[in-house]
Amino acid sequence: RVVVRLDDVHKEYGAARALGGVSLRIDAGDAVAVMGPSGCGKSTLLNLVAGLDRPTRGTVQVGGQDLGAMNETELALFRRRHVGMVFQFFNLIDDLPALDNAALTAQLTGTPARQARDRAMELFEELGIAERADVYPAALSGGERQRVAVARALMNRPALLLADEPTGALDSRSGEQVMDLLIDLNQIGQTLLIVTHDPDLAERCAGRLVELADGRVVAEHGLERTP
Ligand code: ADP
Ligand code: ADP
Repeated sequence: RVVVRLDDVHKEYGAARALGGVSLRIDAGDAVAVMGPSGCGKSTLLNLVAGLDRPTRGTVQVGGQDLGAMNETELALFRRRHVGMVFQFFNLIDDLPALDNAALTAQLTGTPARQARDRAMELFEELGIAERADVYPAALSGGERQRVAVARALMNRPALLLADEPTGALDSRSGEQVMDLLIDLNQIGQTLLIVTHDPDLAERCAGRLVELADGRVVAEHGLERTP
């Protein structure tokens, strides 16, 4: 089963070319890392796969659906249901306790509040943060914040988990915990697309590395994961 398929994707911002013909396929259960220098198009690629932006040319398919055929409303719903996102700076809502940060995601797609909280608590237990459920983000450690963000991303059992520099704002110990978490998730079948500058993160968490330079894929190779 193909989860992500990009065919000859181009993206231009006015005269600036962010992507110049990228084709990429990610199968269910794959863990793919995208690396490359600043400005090579990594964020653009992630935004296109997440349906946050549209290509200038080419097609983006996620879960067998052509994102280009969806209107904005359909795209927003598709994203909430099928794509989970984790960011470098967590993007948690400061005035909601940890558990509500996660539960809100499911409530926004129509899950009753009680059921959403139960699902969030189940994930908090799996991720080892159950005792932090009532704590506000400001009082959580960086590693705990990122685990809350991962729980939030997994609420709707997304076909794809996108991570943009997920360890970039963490100290090395918290970073290790988040890497272990991503490895565990992939081992139970979660498809991952990780964008990072960190070769250690790519080597440990991904089975395949895609190197971007100047908006193009310049190399692609399988990785021996180093536990
Ligand atoms: P990366 O994430 O690898 O640093 P980006 O995808 O952010 O790269 O950017 C790729 C190129 O596209 C860069 O030259 C960047 O300046 C440009 N770019 C990205 N987003 C925009 C935008 N919204 N408007 C104009 N240029 C952009
Ligand atoms: P990263 O640190 O992940 O490479 P960037 O700093 O390149 O991220 O970009 C952060 C956000 O700003 C992205 O969503 C990108 O699309 C946007 N962006 C990047 N370059 C430009 C630009 N030249 N003009 C407008 N927006 C940009």
